[in-house]
Amino acid sequence: MGLLKSKIVVIPLGEVDFMIVNRLAAEIGPVFNRSVDILKGMKMPVEAHNIIRNQYYATVLLQKLERSKANSREIIIGICEEDLYIPDERNVISYCDTLAGTSVVSLFEIRQEFYGLPEDDKKIFPRLIKESIHQLGHLFDLTDCRNPKCVNYYSQMMNDIDNKTEKFCDICKRQLTGAF
Ligand SMILES: [Zn+2]
Repeated sequence: MGLLKSKIVVIPLGEVDFMIVNRLAAEIGPVFNRSVDILKGMKMPVEAHNIIRNQYYATVLLQKLERSKANSREIIIGICEEDLYIPDERNVISYCDTLAGTSVVSLFEIRQEFYGLPEDDKKIFPRLIKESIHQLGHLFDLTDCRNPKCVNYYSQMMNDIDNKTEKFCDICKRQLTGAF
């Protein structure tokens, strides 16, 4: 199956720190045992922008990302700074479409300023990688985990994200190995 292995493709959306994107790409590859490409940045699509909410509609963003797939087996993760929403939620940190194999993670809510707190660089990357691994996990057919320490734990609050580890629990790891 070696040649048929899907590849993970990281797409920076809008103005995103390339150092962060680079580091993320380097660290997620080994987690999923996949090679990772970083695409040239893409502008935030205007058609996803909701002027009234001043937010970006995550579903439209994912549709846009899907169009950059070179083949159907590529697994896409977009990274952006903008505030995202879906109609049922005030805002979302991340979102994915398991059928399309696309996901997006926003740094907007990950940053401490969102909570009126001073910026803390040390918190940004761990939160970003946990969210990214969680979303990619869905694209590798994992369902949310109930173990609060597992990276695949469904985190409703930033606190949940801070409290979980960057690792999969044994159950998720076994499921994932099945997917490899
Ligand atoms: Zn788990």
